Amino acid sequence: MTVLRQELESAEPERRFGSGWISGVLALVLAGLGLGAVLCLRYPEVLTVPEARNLYNVALIRLAVQVVLVGGFLLGILSIVLRRNKILGFTALGCILIATALGGSGAQDRLQLQSDVYLGLDWFLLNLIFTGIVFIPIERLLGKKEQPIFRYEWREDLLYFLISSLLVQVLTFLSLAPSLTILSHTDWGGLRRAVGSQPVILQFLEIMLLTDLVQYWVHRAFHRVSFLWKFHAIHHSAQSMDWLASSRMHLFEIVILRGSTVIPMYVLGFTESALYAYIVFVYFLAAFVHANLRVPLGWIDRWLVTPRFHHWHHGIEHEAIDVNFAVHFPFLDWLFGTYHLPADGRWPSGYGIEDHPIPRGFLRQFLYPLTPAREAVPVAFPPSEGNPVAASPPDQNS
Ligand SMILES: [Zn+2]
Ligand SMILES: [Zn+2]
Repeated sequence: MTVLRQELESAEPERRFGSGWISGVLALVLAGLGLGAVLCLRYPEVLTVPEARNLYNVALIRLAVQVVLVGGFLLGILSIVLRRNKILGFTALGCILIATALGGSGAQDRLQLQSDVYLGLDWFLLNLIFTGIVFIPIERLLGKKEQPIFRYEWREDLLYFLISSLLVQVLTFLSLAPSLTILSHTDWGGLRRAVGSQPVILQFLEIMLLTDLVQYWVHRAFHRVSFLWKFHAIHHSAQSMDWLASSRMHLFEIVILRGSTVIPMYVLGFTESALYAYIVFVYFLAAFVHANLRVPLGWIDRWLVTPRFHHWHHGIEHEAIDVNFAVHFPFLDWLFGTYHLPADGRWPSGYGIEDHPIPRGFLRQFLYPLTPAREAVPVAFPPSEGNPVAASPPDQNS
């Protein structure tokens, strides 16, 4: 595994065009996606989301799996031919072999298992495909700073992406539970009908404003209350910013954030089309504001949350502490005195928390909020990445 990781994280000369690195990485990605899709075809009851299952065109998916596996196989062979170290190519071929042994694109679910519990493997694969297809190429073209795809801590962030997608059932249940309780104890039929009868675009804008207002204060509480900060610190421990960094979040915080978004949307009676439009929008927005993008957005920076606005929220400098809490509208920060966007167009010089006190690894980070501070394991920044000079300590409790 270490050799495979080192190959993926190869520095520039070793990943140049013609070195077999690009074909090897593509082969590995296609093999992973193909194997995941074959597992979903074979064990749909336990690995796919029931609501999404009914929407799939299985014949089209089988064709796509076929193309992906054949493409991955050919690229794997190409990488083996071109590259001195064969591990990328052989690992890809190994995954394709397992996928084929499980039935390949023709894999049938063996039993009609009745399962009350499922993992969202399909959800993970779709998320990864769509956000990856959108953000990886534009980050290559418009990257704010030179940063490889397999940058520092990419595996941790990918694991966060995987686990939060797989646990879609339990996270959705926990997030929805408070709204369902509120709904069962209230009788806002008139208000709900009035809200739901508005044009969808108006409902969409109202959802943006309401959720931003709620999340501004929830987010601010996560910074100011020391118990909550230990959960939120996981998100702020990201030292590299890109589309994948948005998924670095403690499961407890995911439930609280989703719950606080869903409550105003769900309880007030917004229609399903407005809700789904907002959920898709906010999903891409989360990746966008974390992305490594230097997009010249001019005056838009001041009216809508952009990568530069949110990067300042993650900045390591003293001036970046406890600023820019809004998710959609920077005017909320301006209104509540936490707005920070330097007029000279500067970006933060680095990201993370001073001294990087958060331990490495998903499990240790999961337990970190419940661990006494003295037991936290400090983490050293890799010298090759050049950790920018940190300023004063974060004053989360002030
Ligand atoms: Zn924050
Ligand atoms: Zn963030």
